[in-house]
Amino acid sequence: MSLKSKSAVVTGSTSGIGLAIARALAKEGANVLINGFGKPEDIEKERAGIEAEFGVKAIYSGADMTKPDQIAEMIALAETTFGAVDVLVNNAGIQFVSPVESFPTEKWDQIIAINLSSAFHAIHAAVPGMKARGWGRIISTASAHSLVGSPFKSAYVAAKHGIAGLTKSIALELATNGITVNCISPGYVWTPLVESQIPDTMKARNLTREQVINDVLLAAQPTKQFVTVEEVAAVVVFLCSDAAKQMTGANLSVDGGWTAA
Ligand code: NAD
Repeated sequence: MSLKSKSAVVTGSTSGIGLAIARALAKEGANVLINGFGKPEDIEKERAGIEAEFGVKAIYSGADMTKPDQIAEMIALAETTFGAVDVLVNNAGIQFVSPVESFPTEKWDQIIAINLSSAFHAIHAAVPGMKARGWGRIISTASAHSLVGSPFKSAYVAAKHGIAGLTKSIALELATNGITVNCISPGYVWTPLVESQIPDTMKARNLTREQVINDVLLAAQPTKQFVTVEEVAAVVVFLCSDAAKQMTGANLSVDGGWTAA
């Protein structure tokens, strides 16, 4: 399978899952627009690295996913530079954990904006071009929290359930346009963010590294293993293939069995 001559926009791709998705799509030959925050020199290293390693065009947009106008500009930049946005991956996301009565209103608004509304704005901007070309792949990074709840994560769980609903609705709308719309729901994914929490948790709870991983982080994950960013990216690549053209409106779990329980 090759995505040569295709172009992709991946939001929140300066680190973690999004970066792995951008790299996996570039490996298949797609030009990619990467997006997100970070140190300019680190972002430039990733961007230039993608071009050098995979022989594709890679550009960067610093669009803030809380700003609808910047999201529209990001899609327009990709269309102008590459000639199309064939693959849109809505991946940017943040987390905030707090009891509901002390959950800050601005954090609620920020999570709904980044984790949910940004997907609507990007889809809104990218669909006209996809419809005109009669081909498109829209994939959103949801979460196990699009299927089940957890206490103290009201905004995140609401936003991720919203992504699952948005996916179904847009999939039905675009079903006859050659455009598939799906979301992927990872469980706990091994990212630098997760890894860096382990030493502090070991100290705070007086636990070994293995106890932190199995009894704290992976308590909900039956395989007792983290999902890797590459495993999530591989599902994105599959959804872009012709073999997946009848898969639309789906919510694909990659969660070590979490939501089977
Ligand atoms: P991460 O923190 O490594 O990456 C998040 C990305 O989003 C970064 O590139 C960051 O710069 C970007 N971002 C944050 N706010 C932004 C904004 N306002 N505008 C533009 N970009 C912004 O996290 P990750 O673990 O790779 O998470 C990526 C996605 O996967 C998120 O939607 C997250 O909810 C989801 N997810 C993560 C896990 C996990 O265990 N790590 C599990 C399930 C789902």
